[in-house]
Amino acid sequence: MEPCKYHPMADAHFRCPSCQAHCCHECVDEGHRGDNTFCFVCEQPTEIIEGPLNVTPFWRRIDDSFRYPLNKTLLIFIAIVSFLGAVASQLPLPLMLGLSLLTTGVMMKYCFNCLSETARGNLSPPDISSAYEGGIVLIFRLFLMLVIAIVAVSSVYAYISTVLGSLLGFFLLIALPAIIITYAMTENIVDALNPLKLTSIIATIGLPYGLILAMLMIMMGSVELLSELIGFENSLPVLSLQAMISNFYSVVMFHLMGYMIYQYQYELGVEPSDHAFDREVRPEQHRLLAKSRALIKEGYWGSAEKALNSAMQRFQADDELNDLYFRFKLATFSLNQKAYQKNEQLKSDSADAPSTVKKSLTTKLTPQQELAKVADQYLLHLTQTKKDHQLTTAYQLVAHQTPNYKPHQPTLRHQLAQSFCDAGNPRKAAQLLNGLHKDNPRYNNLIPAYELLQRSLNDIPGMEQQVQACRRLIVKLREKQDQVASL
Ligand SMILES: [Zn+2]
Ligand SMILES: [Zn+2]
Repeated sequence: MEPCKYHPMADAHFRCPSCQAHCCHECVDEGHRGDNTFCFVCEQPTEIIEGPLNVTPFWRRIDDSFRYPLNKTLLIFIAIVSFLGAVASQLPLPLMLGLSLLTTGVMMKYCFNCLSETARGNLSPPDISSAYEGGIVLIFRLFLMLVIAIVAVSSVYAYISTVLGSLLGFFLLIALPAIIITYAMTENIVDALNPLKLTSIIATIGLPYGLILAMLMIMMGSVELLSELIGFENSLPVLSLQAMISNFYSVVMFHLMGYMIYQYQYELGVEPSDHAFDREVRPEQHRLLAKSRALIKEGYWGSAEKALNSAMQRFQADDELNDLYFRFKLATFSLNQKAYQKNEQLKSDSADAPSTVKKSLTTKLTPQQELAKVADQYLLHLTQTKKDHQLTTAYQLVAHQTPNYKPHQPTLRHQLAQSFCDAGNPRKAAQLLNGLHKDNPRYNNLIPAYELLQRSLNDIPGMEQQVQACRRLIVKLREKQDQVASL
């Protein structure tokens, strides 16, 4: 199986015909436009790649299948249905028929649900509430199928040829699991009795089909055997026990048959949209993230930026999105700067150009200003989400691109300086705090900030003069504070 273009470790399940790209689940837009998935890069519908799933073969799951019904609710359900079934056999005829139909119907319905759910890749037993509807209808339809089969076999036997009739009977016996499977998957009697369909299922699965058939026979036989061992006593406990065993076996068997479909889903042409690809639509911010990542990996910076910008406008609080946006802005900074310089050059060259051209060439912010804005936003997000320990690293990444960067918010600048001071980097702390009172004369904690500056300067050799200046500034700030307080 091909790997995903963007995740070499993941299997691709989709293919974009126009980009010629193979993608995994993560890298396609399952979005809101109907059932289709779309390519994030060119926004065209993708094709589903059919291929074998990594499914354990069903014969290696036989052990697990016996554990499948082992959950409390289901066991209680089996016990109650079996007990009621046994009670039914002791009742007068009309009541017996009614209750038997009801209990058998509920149990059969549940078994068919086990089959179709397992075939869809859901390997835990379905909710028992799913058994209460349509049980009787199911029994009548199964009965109808049995009648059709018997009529067909006996008509062929009587009117066409005895050999052919026997062969048809034999075929239907062999096809029993295929009939059950087809009916469980389609709920269509005509399909379930269509010899062509049945033959194709048997031929596609091949030898393992024989295994399931043999198991079915053995299980039916062993239920018989067990009843004989327990004895033909017509007492309620014995009958209940027999019913319980056979119902338990039925759940296991139907689960196994479903698992066989799950294993051979591609070979059988079971629509993949019903199975492995049936997944929940991710929240929109996750899809926008996946889209941005694919666009970035493709090198479509412009489209990636657009996607990220619109995502940031709507999902400002999302952690992953903030990280990706910040890193994207850092990574594209030098590119932006080059483009900006070129632009400036064009602007000066086109002094005589029509005003519309000139207008399109004016950008609002310089790349430095833009990065500073993004960094401010990101640092603030880090403090708001209690990730203060990441502040210094993030700051240094920005400072690496624009060495003069200082956060616009005085609190943030102060906090960052404190972190650098704590981390044994007084130079960075001093750099950040220098000029704070000029940039933010109204900042409430100017005095503690300058005290921090003084301490940081003390730790840097050759800064005696600056320490003195800082001390004088603190005195001045205190005097000003006292004046304000006395007013
Ligand atoms: Zn991928
Ligand atoms: Zn595409």
